[in-house]
This record gives sequence, structure tokens and C-alpha cells, in this order.
Amino acid sequence: MTDRDRLVDLDRLHLWHPYTQMSSYGRIDPLVIAAAEGSWIEDANGRRYLDGNSQWWVATLGHGHPRLKAALHAQIDRLSHVSLAGVVHENAAALASELAAVAPSGLTRVFFSDDGSTAVEVALKMAVHYFHQNGAPKRTRFVVLDGGFHGETIGAASLGAVDEFRAPYESILFPVRRTPDPDEIGWSAAFDWIRALLEREGDTIAAVVVEPVLQGAAGMRMYAPELLTRLREWTRAAGTLLVCDEVFTGYGRTGAMWACDLANVAPDLLCTAKGFTGGVLPMAATLATDAIFEGFLGEKSRAFFHGHSFGGNPLGAAVAREVLAVMRDEDVIGQVRAKAPIVRAAFEQIGRISGVKSVRTIGLVGAADLGTGGYLGGAGWRVYEAGLRRGAYLRPIGDTVYVAPALTISEGDLRSLCRILAESVEEASARGA
Ligand code: PMP
Repeated sequence: MTDRDRLVDLDRLHLWHPYTQMSSYGRIDPLVIAAAEGSWIEDANGRRYLDGNSQWWVATLGHGHPRLKAALHAQIDRLSHVSLAGVVHENAAALASELAAVAPSGLTRVFFSDDGSTAVEVALKMAVHYFHQNGAPKRTRFVVLDGGFHGETIGAASLGAVDEFRAPYESILFPVRRTPDPDEIGWSAAFDWIRALLEREGDTIAAVVVEPVLQGAAGMRMYAPELLTRLREWTRAAGTLLVCDEVFTGYGRTGAMWACDLANVAPDLLCTAKGFTGGVLPMAATLATDAIFEGFLGEKSRAFFHGHSFGGNPLGAAVAREVLAVMRDEDVIGQVRAKAPIVRAAFEQIGRISGVKSVRTIGLVGAADLGTGGYLGGAGWRVYEAGLRRGAYLRPIGDTVYVAPALTISEGDLRSLCRILAESVEEASARGA
């Protein structure tokens, strides 16, 4: 038995994989990843694959960036953990100020947590708590765009709209106001629906929560930044908070530091994770305005009663600071803008392949819809299999196939990735037809 086989045995015996039907898992030969560098992941047999989704969109600076590794090594020798309970350390304080400096204007306060889901939970609790003790206790509701995805915990999942993810928990999720499906009524009408709701019931709404410009898990759905600009005006007029979940869209993915920047919008609360540590460690942050922060000042009982053991973890904070420094020194956002036309051109071609229903791109994201099976469809998985054979990891979202590689991917590798996707779509559409 090889080491690889032994590992696969242990996997089948004990591991429970996310978003995976485990009854068929035993029949597949899993990808056993042993190493990763830059835009490549390498399996236990030494075979390399281009990483098409930067591992659920986190490794934005590529795997094993030498500066991130060095920052982690240096920090672990000094201090690996203290909580922020009455304590501060250099990296937490410096990171908060460096983050505020690159955040949309007015977001001056930084609350640390663990991952995208907790960053969203923090925003939800802050919003309701803020109104609770600042004269508007009836503002307890949230409004979301249909299709949005905001995380796995109960609060974040309550906002989520992917039916397959919600249905089993419907009885314990809290009710939210959700727009009709923008795919059916159009994005502009979906935003108008929010405006009408705010006019009618604004005084019960704590916040409108959106993935700005780009909905990731919904299948890389995109809307015009102007709609976000308008939403900012309407929420301000209604006295409702705007929460932008930049867990996926932030840190350069769309060709701007924040997708909000594309709309010239500064939300009241902003959630960041994933690329926040370049995928090296789980850590997240929720940014808030001074006005919200000040709503928690005064008596002891007005404090924000929320905190995670690892919030502000010195290792994560050291790496997150280095991510910001690398983004600046390597002009990562400039790189995204320069490479975005490669993705655009490739997906224009993919759009001409028979069986492809629609394509769209923004920054270093390109997506194509195949089939009609939605999240549980098989077309995307046929492309995945074909992609693996050609040397690329192209995990689909149901029948949507996409690329969201490291932002630092070389132009040559980006072209190869898009070519492999195109060839795999052609093969899968010929076989599936
Ligand atoms: N918000 C958005 C927009 C996301 O895409 C995700 C994860 N895909 C989350 C929140 C949850 O992040 P995490 O998986 O780190 O909890």
C-alpha cells in the first residue's frame, strides 16, 4: 500500500467533506494534494494542476507567497496568540489602522473574527444592536438580493438564498425580506423592489446586505455598479444601514480593492475574509463607521457583547498586514486590470461553444452557464473531470463553470487555464449532448 492509498483509506473511514454526498464519495478517486505553489496545486503523484478557483477564492496572492511565509515564520517565533480581551498587540493595532486606510471612506473601526461567516454574523449583530440601543428597536429586519450567499452559520445562512443550502434549516433560520430572482425580473427591477420596500417599511429594516456587484456562490452573477450607487442613496434616505459582504469580492478580485469602489460607495459595515490573509490563515474583519461605533459608547451595558477566541490572532494579523504590503508593492490591482482582458476575450470565445447559455466576466472572474440543472446539475462536473485530465482544477458551481484564479497568476498560466476550460467545455458539451 502506498502512502497515498493509506491516506485515501483514512479519508474514506473518517473524513466528512463539505458540500459532498458522502455515499458516492467512496467510489471516486479523490484528488490528493500534497503541495501548492503560485497558481499550481500538486497531487501526491507529483502531477500539477492549474488552480482555477484559488481554493474557494482565498489564495489571492497564489500559494506559498514567500513574503507571506516569511511574515508567518517571523511572527510565530515571537507570539502566536493572545486574545483581544483587554490586551492589544502590535499587529492587531497596526493592521486595523492599515485596513482603515485602504477601506472605503468612513470605515474607521475594525472588529476581527475568524472567517467570512463570522464577519457577516458580526455585521448582523452590530446592526441590530446599534438600533436596539439608539432609539429604533423596531429595526430588526434584513433585506437581501435573491441569490446572495453570506456564509454557513445560522445568521449568515438566514440571508442566503440558494434553496438547496437553506431548505433543511428553514425552520430555524430567521425570516428576511428577499427580492424576487433578478434572473427573472432583471437586476434593475430587483433593486427597485428594495427601494419600494424601504419606502414602505424602512423603519423596520436594520440593514440591506449585499454582495457588491458580484454574487459568487449564486454562480458568479454580476450587476451594474450604478445599482449599488443607487442603493446607497436609498438606504441613506431610509436611515437603514448598508452592509457590503466583500468576503469574495474584496482584495482586488474585481479589479478594484473593493467592489464597492467600482460604485463609489462606502457602506456602513463591510465584511472581509478569504483574501484578507491571502488564504494562509483563517481570519476576518468587519469594518464599521464611527457613527455605528459611537452607538455602543456609554454605560457598560451598551458594549458590543461579542468576541471570538481567535479574533485578532497575531499570526493571522501579521500575515494580513503582509498581504496589504504585497498588494501595494506588487501593484496587484494593476495586475488584475491588465489581465482582465485575457479573461474577457477567452469567455467571449467560450460563449460561442454549443451548449453554453451565457457568459460574463469581471476582473479576474469569468463564468459560463451550461445545462439547466442549477446547483445539482451534472454539466459543470463533466467539465471538472475533463479539466482534471488536462491539468486544471475547475470546480464548478452546479452548471456554472468559472475561473477565479490567484490574482498574481502569470499571463501564460491564465491563458492556459482559460484554454483548458474552453476545451473541457467543448468536450463535455459534445459528450453531454
Ligand atoms: N460571504 C461570501 C460572499 C462568501 O462567498 C462566503 C464563502 N464562500 C462567505 C461569506 C463565508 O465565508 P467562510 O466560508 O470563510 O465562512
